[in-house]
Amino acid sequence: MQRIALLTSGGDSPGMNACIRAVVRKAIYHGLEVLGIKRGYNGFVEADIAPMNLGSVADIILRGGTILRTARSDQFMNPVGRAKANENVKRFGIQGLIVIGGDGSFRGAKVFNQEYGLPVVGIPGTIDNDIPGTDQTIGFDTAVSTAVEAISKIRDTATSHERTFIIEVMGRRCGYIALAAGLAGGAESILIPEYPFDYDEICDRLMRGYRRGKMHSIIVVAEGVASSLEVGRKISERTGFDTKVIILGHLQRGGMPSATDVILASRMGAKAVELLMAGETKKLIGVRAAQITATDIDDALSQTKSIDMELYDLAGVLSI
Ligand code: ADP
Repeated sequence: MQRIALLTSGGDSPGMNACIRAVVRKAIYHGLEVLGIKRGYNGFVEADIAPMNLGSVADIILRGGTILRTARSDQFMNPVGRAKANENVKRFGIQGLIVIGGDGSFRGAKVFNQEYGLPVVGIPGTIDNDIPGTDQTIGFDTAVSTAVEAISKIRDTATSHERTFIIEVMGRRCGYIALAAGLAGGAESILIPEYPFDYDEICDRLMRGYRRGKMHSIIVVAEGVASSLEVGRKISERTGFDTKVIILGHLQRGGMPSATDVILASRMGAKAVELLMAGETKKLIGVRAAQITATDIDDALSQTKSIDMELYDLAGVLSI
């Protein structure tokens, strides 16, 4: 293996830049050449590809976003687009591809590998933590910290005005951010798609808190559960409490990555290069019990990632 290429795809997440840096520097350390593909699979199809060197990744380790930019690419969903990408594989002499992104991006990598045989390795970069085959994804820790910081600020005003706040966090179809941020932020209730919720129980909990003199309440809602405006309206109708709804939105995607994410990104990036050098293909990097792992992409994508119900139950007990 002499020359590898790298792209970021799908939703961006804090720590992607640290991962790009790790891939580039680890590869150069071992004498490989690295090409950066811009704008996800769009750049792969359109030949938006340029060599990267040690200086290309200088001073990006703590920067949010991705210097390679990212995109969702309709062209790559189409066999004609992928054929163009394969022309670029030949033109640029690409012998292996590293894709940092989410499950959609790995499906794309897998299809391309099946069609053209290019060795591919995926690295999970998404704030949602919704990728099977890994305990944690790059960006999740930072996004949770951002959400908790917001909860902490909202708590102050919630207490002053004796209000109930409904805080909607990201996560697509998955409740990981909501569960972690709700537990760390001391939320009264956490609504996640993996677990049915009951307005009577939520309102009983709020009333119990109110009777023992609680000044405020925080309810964290995962975006995949229900409209948070609807949740706020129903709770307000049932309890008569003044409820406010806050949607954190894309705020959770940006910012300086946490040290945990930077370290994870660095380890995963280095491992991806090692795998390509060892002749491996169609692998998804992960972290399991603090060890960096590699799983077959098909195996990983055929699993569903389940939420840690012990954590969910604990959050319920501690916010009684
Ligand atoms: P994420 O990687 O964050 O899950 P998407 O699901 O939008 O984001 O996927 C990112 C990109 O991966 C898509 O825009 C598309 O270019 C490519 N992709 C996804 N699924 C496939 C597929 N089945 N075949 C080819 N390309 C795909």
